[in-house]
Amino acid sequence: MSKKEILAKCIDTLIPNSFYRYLINLCKNDFVVLAYHRIMDVDDNYPFDIELISASCKQFDEQMAFVSRNFVPVSIEQVVNCYINNLKLPKKSILITFDDGFADNYKNAFPILKKYNVPATIFLSTDFISSDNTLWFDRLSYFIMNYDEGLMKGAVREKFKVNCTAKSRRQILEEVMEYVKIIPNSDREKLLKELYEVFDFSYSENHMHYSETLNWQQIKEMDESCVSFGSHTLSHPILSQLDAAELTHELAESKKIIEKNINHSIDTIAYPVGTRSAFNEEVISESRLAGYKLGFSYLSGANKWPLKNEFTINRYHIERYISTSLFKCMLSVQKLFLR
Ligand SMILES: [Zn+2]
Repeated sequence: MSKKEILAKCIDTLIPNSFYRYLINLCKNDFVVLAYHRIMDVDDNYPFDIELISASCKQFDEQMAFVSRNFVPVSIEQVVNCYINNLKLPKKSILITFDDGFADNYKNAFPILKKYNVPATIFLSTDFISSDNTLWFDRLSYFIMNYDEGLMKGAVREKFKVNCTAKSRRQILEEVMEYVKIIPNSDREKLLKELYEVFDFSYSENHMHYSETLNWQQIKEMDESCVSFGSHTLSHPILSQLDAAELTHELAESKKIIEKNINHSIDTIAYPVGTRSAFNEEVISESRLAGYKLGFSYLSGANKWPLKNEFTINRYHIERYISTSLFKCMLSVQKLFLR
């Protein structure tokens, strides 16, 4: 258990809930955004990328109970409206977001969001919606986690130039993931295709459901309730690596596709991967041109309201190893518990 976890457990045992509220009240003008990916109960045999699991169903339930009791959860429409009209956000505003658009957002997160009446936003990579094909990083993870160990190491050495000796599959996956994020998008797609075709590998029938993505029916149902949607591009590329035509296409088309399916305007984008190297000034200016009003990074931190840069909004990452005690402390004493 980390030092932060131990400290959080002690604090959580000692202080009453009202004290969290007092601490949260001290964070004036903060606009807190949480970034989730997937909500699922998984074990160590999970066959896809376990790093995408942000919380179990129980953890997410406890987190939303805390959020609804101590914060003012806002919808993305409220945030956009306040930004455009130069209005104040309610004090203690918090925005819950999900990236990618996996089906567990509907099956597991949506019932909990409704239970606590917490609005949320899902950023969709539209190529994978209502599709049998899952996102590229989950395809890559599946190969590394499931292909014959000896053969997999050979394939990875050959394709990704990673030295696999004496490393676990998870370590290899981590290194390969770093590598594929910095190569051109077309090369990554080619490599992935080759992995499955040249090494004659396919999904096992009973594993497919783990990486299922949302369909438009589920999206429409959520859109009529407490969930809003934003773009996470078409194919989840690293935007900073695209040429001008590809960049415009990824930004503009994904927006149009979501708007056509849910019949109202989409004003926000979350950049895939979202780290400093994944988006740049060109990405920001093209996002603006495509008609987006706000852009979300995957940089960790709070935001001051009014926003200084509306196309580089920070988000706190929620990961499956964060206990409920640590979650409460993170959001109450951010400077102490968040890097
Ligand atoms: Zn993503």
